[in-house]
Amino acid sequence: MGTLLNINNLKTHFFSSGRTIRALDGVSFHIEEGEVFGLVGETGCGKSVTALSILRLIPFPPGKIINGEILFRGRNLLSLQEDEMRSIRGQEISMIFQEPMTSLNPVFRIGDQMMEVIMLHQKLNRSRAFEKALEMLQRVHIPDADRVVKQYPHQLSGGMRQRVMIAMELSCHPFLLIADEPTTALDVTIQAQILRLIKEIKKELQTSILLITHDLGVIAEMCDRVAVMYAGSIVEEAKVEEIFEEPKHPYTQGLWGAIPRVDQEKEALVVIPGMVPDLSQPPTGCKFHPRCPYRFDPCDQKKPPLFPLSPGHLVSCYLYEEGKSHE
Ligand code: SF4
Repeated sequence: MGTLLNINNLKTHFFSSGRTIRALDGVSFHIEEGEVFGLVGETGCGKSVTALSILRLIPFPPGKIINGEILFRGRNLLSLQEDEMRSIRGQEISMIFQEPMTSLNPVFRIGDQMMEVIMLHQKLNRSRAFEKALEMLQRVHIPDADRVVKQYPHQLSGGMRQRVMIAMELSCHPFLLIADEPTTALDVTIQAQILRLIKEIKKELQTSILLITHDLGVIAEMCDRVAVMYAGSIVEEAKVEEIFEEPKHPYTQGLWGAIPRVDQEKEALVVIPGMVPDLSQPPTGCKFHPRCPYRFDPCDQKKPPLFPLSPGHLVSCYLYEEGKSHE
């Protein structure tokens, strides 16, 4: 197993009405082959912008990747020509979205949409592409795939549409699947089925997954490692067991404290005071400092780097600078 994706100091900004919105402000992380890596954080923290930056789908204007490196299988995606990028999208890196209707075309039958992707990337003829589409629908446990292949998206339930999207995105056996809130729009029982399906397919195809969610339960259930994002930066990264056992960054502790626990029903949930900052005028230094109960001298002056706590556990907080007390 090696490193599949390595992102270094990625900065994606949006320029609008004379303002610069620093949506990603120096994001770095890597994903190993066959790994499920989670990105978690509140709405607007930069999770989806990270995914769109990897695929170079940031709309320009107003958005632009202004700095960084996205090394995928050894190649920097930011230096590729657009036609090279087009062949990577869908074939080597695929993406499933929260609402499959945004990706499925309502006026084409499911089979035709799947066949188009398969013929484009795998260079198969129509009849082979049809067989492949059918095979993929069966693989994601769609009952009566022969009928579904001839249907339109609106004739399917939300859960079935998400299965179709997974089948379509996996039909070219990508090295990396980006799943952006893949279960948020589904009800709880269907959510569980879709997560089980993603897990099963990942095991079968050995696809690496970048799983984006605000749901800590999904992270705990699915991921090997996780990075917590706040206001366009990663504030903590660790193995899932480690971060759930001992979250270190004050923001991670706040997020974790906000999870209702059935074994502690009398304890009040933690509320993080204040608001998520305006990314066109972010706070100086540590962006969490206006909300942090532990802030001290350097916090509002200089952005804390990611300090290593143990192998693979990194925290962007001055409390963990060498020589500081950690309690
Ligand atoms: Fe709080 Fe300072 Fe750590 Fe930021 S760097 S999280 S303000 S203690």
